[in-house]
Amino acid sequence: SDDLLAVEDLTKHFPLKTGGVIHAVNGVSLRQRRGETIGIVGESGCGKSTFARLCLRLIEPTSGAIRFDGGDLRSLPARALRAKRRDMQIIFQDPYASLDPRMSVGDIIREPLDIHAIGNRAERRAQVVELLEKVGLPPDAARRYPHEFSGGQRQRIGIARAIALRPKLVVADEPVSALDLSIQSQVLNLLVTLRAEMNLSYLFISHDLAVIRHISDRVAVMYLGRIVELAEVDALYANPAHPYTRALLSAIPQPDPTRRRPRTILAGDLPNPETPPSGCPFHPRCPSALEQCATVYPASRNIGPPDKPHLVDCHLYD
Ligand code: SF4
Ligand code: MG
Repeated sequence: SDDLLAVEDLTKHFPLKTGGVIHAVNGVSLRQRRGETIGIVGESGCGKSTFARLCLRLIEPTSGAIRFDGGDLRSLPARALRAKRRDMQIIFQDPYASLDPRMSVGDIIREPLDIHAIGNRAERRAQVVELLEKVGLPPDAARRYPHEFSGGQRQRIGIARAIALRPKLVVADEPVSALDLSIQSQVLNLLVTLRAEMNLSYLFISHDLAVIRHISDRVAVMYLGRIVELAEVDALYANPAHPYTRALLSAIPQPDPTRRRPRTILAGDLPNPETPPSGCPFHPRCPSALEQCATVYPASRNIGPPDKPHLVDCHLYD
């Protein structure tokens, strides 16, 4: 099929010592086409990172199905899952914390090639040089150590490591959030170039709607462990339908005053995911809430054309 990833009704509950349960991900379904980049946006704590890690089975779901590249990922035994990991990589937010300071950059980038026994030693060394070039670092970077590099360069090292095995899917979890604004677009452009060169698919997580817009084909808006809106990037930004999406978008400064959106204030904090609100979980903060919103979770509706669905979970579209 054309889908690289298809998750169905994915749920993750973390039991607490207190007897409570964190409802981190609540029945999420999503299909990702080969070569497609899906942006996942939402406030921190809304379940984006947990959802992406569930998709790679880096953490075990409580329930739900994951199909990756035509196979059932949930039924794979540990050894087969490790082999499959070649095709699924992750880029972390913090390049400082995610690189081992005692390893040379060459060893860091070569490690996945070693683990999966790709080629012989000389071939792996040659691949490291090639990977450094791909991410815009000089060949002599291989002999140096992470602390000798700037934040942006370190993220390039993390990217080189993530693409070393020529994966099909890369989860990028806030990959530019820790970087200076001036460096962010350089790293984003690198990710865009690599996607085209290597036919990558990204699950791209960010709380920054400008970053998400730049890189995504489609965007999933998450709120308290659910995807509440899912659409092609242009449709989502031109016609945000869910009150939560509208609130997120209205918080972005608009340079052109004639195009300024009516400002929706995102009132209150994200509720505790241990005790999510009943009905539509956004109802305590929603300026448009209806009576049924406090008791009934809204069904997903398509407000877009059949061939380019624009899905929204909100009673305003019942
Ligand atoms: Fe607001 Fe109701 Fe829509 Fe939830 S379902 S976003 S509370 S209008
Ligand atoms: Mg996160």
